This record gives sequence, structure tokens and C-alpha cells, in this order.
Amino acid sequence: MQALRRFTVRAALPEPLAPLSQLVMNLRWSWHAETRDLFETLDPDLWQRCGGDPVKVLGEVSAERLAALAKDRKFVRRLQDAVDDLEEYLSTPRWYQSLGAEAPASIAYFSAEFGITEVLPQYSGGLGILAGDHLKAASDLGLPLIGVGLLYRAGYFTQGLSADGWQLEHYPSMDPHGLPLKLLRQPDGSAVVIAVPLPEGRTLHAHVWRAQVGRVSLLLLDSDIEENAPSERVVTDRLYGGDEDHRLRQEMLLGIGGVRALRAYCGRTATPAPEVFHANEGHAGFQGVERIRELTEAHGLSFAEALQAVRAGTVFTTHTPVPAGIDRFPKALIERYFAGFGVPLHDLLVLGAEEDPTKFNMAHMGLRLGQRANGVSQLHGHVSRGMFSDLWPGFDESDVPIGSITNGVHAPTWTARELVEMGTQSSSQGDRYDGEDVEHFDGVDKIPASDLWSIRRTLRTRLVEEVRRRIRDTALSRGATEAEVGWTETAFDPDVLTIGFARRVPSYKRLTLMLRDPDRLKALLLDPERPIQLVIAGKSHPADDGGKKLIQQMVAFADDPEIRHRIAFLPGYDIGMARYLYWGCDVWLNNPLRPLEACGTSGMKAALNGGLNLSIRDGWWDEWFDGQNGWAIPTADGVTDHDRRDEVEARAIYDLLSNQVLPRFYERDRNGVPGRWVEMVRHTLRETGPKVLATRMVRDYTRALYVPAAGSARSMAADGYSPARGEAAWRTHVLSHWHDVRVAHVEATGGSDTPQIGSTLDLRAEVELPGLAPEEVEVQAAYGRVDDADGLHDVTTVPMKHEQTDGSRHWFTATVPLERTGAFGYTVRVLPHSAHLADPAELGVVTSA
Ligand SMILES: *Cc1c(COP(=O)(O)O)cnc(C)c1O
Repeated sequence: MQALRRFTVRAALPEPLAPLSQLVMNLRWSWHAETRDLFETLDPDLWQRCGGDPVKVLGEVSAERLAALAKDRKFVRRLQDAVDDLEEYLSTPRWYQSLGAEAPASIAYFSAEFGITEVLPQYSGGLGILAGDHLKAASDLGLPLIGVGLLYRAGYFTQGLSADGWQLEHYPSMDPHGLPLKLLRQPDGSAVVIAVPLPEGRTLHAHVWRAQVGRVSLLLLDSDIEENAPSERVVTDRLYGGDEDHRLRQEMLLGIGGVRALRAYCGRTATPAPEVFHANEGHAGFQGVERIRELTEAHGLSFAEALQAVRAGTVFTTHTPVPAGIDRFPKALIERYFAGFGVPLHDLLVLGAEEDPTKFNMAHMGLRLGQRANGVSQLHGHVSRGMFSDLWPGFDESDVPIGSITNGVHAPTWTARELVEMGTQSSSQGDRYDGEDVEHFDGVDKIPASDLWSIRRTLRTRLVEEVRRRIRDTALSRGATEAEVGWTETAFDPDVLTIGFARRVPSYKRLTLMLRDPDRLKALLLDPERPIQLVIAGKSHPADDGGKKLIQQMVAFADDPEIRHRIAFLPGYDIGMARYLYWGCDVWLNNPLRPLEACGTSGMKAALNGGLNLSIRDGWWDEWFDGQNGWAIPTADGVTDHDRRDEVEARAIYDLLSNQVLPRFYERDRNGVPGRWVEMVRHTLRETGPKVLATRMVRDYTRALYVPAAGSARSMAADGYSPARGEAAWRTHVLSHWHDVRVAHVEATGGSDTPQIGSTLDLRAEVELPGLAPEEVEVQAAYGRVDDADGLHDVTTVPMKHEQTDGSRHWFTATVPLERTGAFGYTVRVLPHSAHLADPAELGVVTSA
């Protein structure tokens, strides 16, 4: 029989234990080991059985046990200590509190997924985990950030394997009351209900659940409520499931419902309204449309005027360099869903316009709605400028206003406790939150090599035990009998070089590249002197049969009795499993098709634990590989024959393993310590560790994007939004005259025919600006190296000074330094200029000589 409804019955907490519920409901426990220790003490067996889920433990622990603990003075004192520690964490000033009044009063952070703990499975992979780490680091730094997302009743999916290695998807049904969530309520105790209009007069309703992530609140919208018709109840059924219609409803709920939930939450809790809205990936784009609608209604602004005000306070982050990864809807669908929404349809459609006139592009809308935009590593910033350069016609790729902030990972979540306690990081909580801006992990230098090595072995051993447990369970679930799984007890070896490969399974990540030459891999696994062992995991999107075939191929290879004690595919990749891999693997392998990995964060988590990366120079590794923190797999960039490229790159991996990785790992000194290996581990902890921190990332976002965006938003909103009105009118005015702008003449004086380095060149440009004032443009001298076809490279630009006017003709001058020998070139260009522009390319127009 199927249950119609489900809920969780909890024991009432005796009065002395009442503070437990506060501890359980604040997810800080997910990165605070002492609090987890306390939960474990409640009932160690139950803690194990519940997979370290304190809400489940509290739901199942017996009333007798609770009564006994309530009388245990030592336990009650420990509980009080933990509560005091949490209170202090929540109330004392942090880094952000030192920033002063320019910093935004609050920041809204939108994402379709959040990976905070395996207990709240609302993520599919990197984007979600990153969002979770962003919230945690924001909490550590004291940012007044509010997360906004959806509550998927079945999460993404849990992964199993069939007997023949095919991925099986299970969709567990979750009861929000059994999760560490609180319902947002009205003063009278009834639930706050958010409403989003749908076509044909229908309405999508949602409740708002609040997760507390340290100091940061995360609002999750849930459509599975009685106010909804059945077709609307399922909107938040699962992450990235369903057809276009379903996804559009989800994204409307995230964006429009998200802003409405924020308004309700801020009103109910006296939280300042967000001044900055950070949209992660295109999914959350409708948040900007809802804010435009709000301004047109509340302040009588036109769409164009409201757009200026909204853009100023919006940050857009693109997370994928894979064009197929970008969210697009048929334009007709948007027309149907937004016909009665309350903004002019034509204006809305322009925001999502792209090459294909029948499509509405969510990433393009993100860029048009965000005055500030970034990719997630330097290389990804570069790739994104190319990928979106069509939105800025006439500009060089390097002028496209998309910057980059390299992702980071939350050290207290991902670093093994033993390493933290040994002093590898700067505070016992991993990430530091005091006034200093740069982290140093110098404590690593004080740890003797033998101790570092022994910790690494401890962590590898723990991984081996976890792998044994999991491969046994997997074999049983795939139909083996108890009598057939004895081999798992001695599979894997705590002293063998352990390589990890775990990530989602889209084709560009090349799960099966290592199988390119099966005999060679087999030889590496079975080498009598210097073997390797491989732990592999990853989920394929349920609709991606190609990915599932790759998994099946991997499982078939690992099923071979000759090698199954050295290689395993573990189903069910999630935060709970990932931790063991990051702690225990000696080498973290990553072989994406460069440059399709936007950043990649799993290798960062391995590095925080002294794991050495063996990776294609893609994403973050392109930036921070330094020759001593691992190995760079040479790439065959530009080889368009994928088969050949795979061949070349796979061979490079085998060669690196045989010639460099293995000798270094197995070369031991008199005490059995591989000295050179341990030095690489130490180097990685000390040098790479501080760079990959989520606190570094969140500080970068704050300084480079949140604070300037708050400044722009405030200046647009001043005086009843009159600057926003002025800016919109100015843009129309500039664009209507732009086709007449012309650089009529440029002359150079001062330089001889063969100038010498150190001399200067005086440029004077005559520019025609009919209808425009010279203050409304910036005339730039652009100069640099020049190639055979007169293309300029490594361009520097300097603004030219307005000197003289004669009607609509104006003269501008600049002095250009000749700092380099060799071929040199220059040109002059004209761009719009206003105090409100964050970047001169913003209007998308430029006129060059
Ligand atoms: C870190 C992490 C990811 C993302 O890893 P990538 O290297 O970006 O692919 C995905 N899933 C889990 C469980 C993680 O911990």
C-alpha cells in the first residue's frame, strides 16, 4: 500500500535538552565537528544508522535515552557550551562588519540548487555545492546574505546500479518537516503563501521554508501545497527534471516567487531589503523581471527606466562554457506565460533575444539584467567573453564586460578534522574570519614529514574501509549473494597509491578516458611493485543515455574479478561520499575537454587535504598549477578529431603516472616516508590551500562586485529614482545619434619616423558628434603590438582630452608612451560615457577610426 501522506513524530525534548533543537536547526553543525560529536553522543548507534542526520536522530531517539541525558550533568554542560559557541558565532562582528557604510545592507543570492549537507539533498553537482559553500563562507565572513532557491521534494535523484551496470534513479519523497527547515509564517501562525501568476488565470502558490546556514538564511520555495491544483503541486518535484513547460514554471517560481518570498521574509523579520541581487546562472533571471515590474508599479517608472535601476544592483555569474548548457525557451512559451504578467512583452523579449529569433535565452537575459557579470575562473572569463561577444558587436573579445572570480571551497566543510587539528590551517575552524585579507597556512611547515605522511595514511585507510563497505552493499544490491561478496573485505589496500575520479558525467568530463588503453590501465592496477588503485563515482543526468553508457562501460571494466580489488565505481556520489574521497585520495584526476570545465572545485577540495592534482590545465588548474602541487596533463588543444585528441591525452596520463607519479610515491627513505611526495603534499597545503578558499572567493565578490553594485543601485534610486529616469533617457538619446558619430581624422606628432623606446607620441583626433556633447562620449587612444594584418594585440587604452569644439566637430588629444620595441600600432575610438556606466562597453556601441 502507498501512504497518502507522511510526517515525522518526534519525542518531546525534556526541558534541560531544549537547546538541542536550536543546534539541530542551524546547519552550522554541518561544518562544526564539536556539535556533531555532541549529536553522536545522543545515541552513537542511531547516529551511524541515520547517516549523521541529527534531525532523524532527534526524531528516533528514545524518550528513555533523552530522560537519562537530561539528568546527565556533564552532557547538559556540553550542550550549553555548544549553544554558547553558536550564539557567539552568530553575534560577534566578522570581516564584513569592518567594511563601512558603502557595503550593501543585504544581498540576495539566487541559485537553482544548494548543496549544504547530504541531509538536505537539493543539488546535482558543482553549481549547487558552490552555492552551499558561498553561503557558508558568507556566514563565516559576516555577510548579510540571503539565499533563495527551490525545495525539491525528491531532490535530484539517488543513484543505484542494475546488475548489468545501468544507472537506476530513485526519487525519495521528502517530508520538509523531517528536514532542518522552518516554515515562514504570518504573525497569526498561518503559513506565508507566495503566488505567481500563470496563463489562463491560473496561479502557482508556494510555501517558503527557511534553512539557517550559520548566520545566513536560505529561503526555499515549495509548491507541493494544498492551495495548488495537482499540475501546480508538482512544479518543485525534482531538480532539472521535466519538459520545457515544467522548467519554465520552476524558473518563474525561483525568480518571481523568490523575490516575493524575499519581500515577505524581510518584512516578517525586519531584515533590510537586499540592495544587491546575485543571479547564479540563467535559471534565476526572472528575479530581475519581477523587480522591474515592482518598480513600474510602485514608482511609475517605465520598463526602460526600471531596467536601469534593476541592472545597477544585479550581479550575474555564468557557470558554463558549454553552449548546450545554456537555458533557452521557445519565445512562444515566454509570450504565453508572461502575457498577463504586468511588463510589456516586447521589452521582456528583447532581454532574452539571441541569434535564433524563435528562442529566449536565459543567459543573455542574465547579462542584460546584470550591470556586472563574471565567469568562475580566469580561463572561463576569457572563454565567456568569446562565447557572449555577439552581445557586444564591434568590440574586441577582450573588451566584453565579463570579468572573472575564481571559485573556492569551504575549508571547514571539506578538510579532514585531523589535518585541521594538526594546524595545517590558520584557525581551528579552517577559514579565518578576522580582519586580515590574505590567508597564510604557514603552520604546515612545523609538521614533521613523518606525521604528515602518517595522517595521509590514516585518511587513505578510512577511504579504503568506506570503499569496502560500499562495494559490498553495491554488489548485494546488484544481485550478488552474501556468499559471493567475501572478496570485498580485502579489496583495496591502505598502502597503495589511490587515485580518485568523481564528478557528474557529461561527455566533456570524459569519465572513460582512462579506459582508452584497457591493457595499459590493467597493468598499472596490477603492477606487483608499484600498483595504483582507482575510486570512481558520478551521476549521469537521468535523460542522458550517453552518460549512462559511459557509467556502464566503467562498471563492466571494474567488474572484472582480476582487477575489482583495485578499481571500483561507487554509485551514489553525494557530499557524504565525496568527503571520504577528498580526504583519502593521493591523486585527484581530472581530464575534461579543455576549455569546457568552467572552474572545477573537486580538485580544490582534494588539495585542502594534501591531495595532488593530476589534471588537464582547465578551469582553476590552469591558474594555480605551479609545478609542485601536482601534474598538468598536456592537452591537444585545437585537435578537432576527438578520437585522436583522446588518444594523445590518454597516453599522456599513462605516461605521467608511470614516469612521474608512481616513482615519487613509492620512493621511500629509511623511515619508510616518501620524502619528495610529502614535500609536494606540504607545498600543496601551504601554497594552494589559501588560494582555493571560499572565503577568498566571497571577499572577491564583495569587493569587486557587491560593494560597487550597491553603490550603483543607490545612486540610481536616489531622489525617487530620478537618476534611473535620466539614465534611460540619456541612453535613448545617445543611441539615436550614434550612427552619426565619426572619427574624421587622426594625426600623430612628436614622434620621429623611427622613434626610440622611452619617447612619446602625441595624438590628435577630430571627431564628429552631431547631436551629442563631448562629455557624453569617451574618446580613447588604443595602442599596442601590431601583427602583419594590422591587428592590435595587448591593447592599452587611454582617454583622450577634449580640447576644442567647432560646431559638431571636436578635437581630442592624448600622449602615448612608447614602452616596447618592435611593431607598434594605434587607433582612436569613441564610446558613450556617463558617470553611471560600470564599463564603457555597456551600451554595446563603439566607433573606431
Ligand atoms: C565538489 C563537488 C562537485 C563538483 O566537482 P567538480 O570538480 O566541479 O566537478 C560535485 N559533486 C560533489 C558531491 C562535490 O563535492
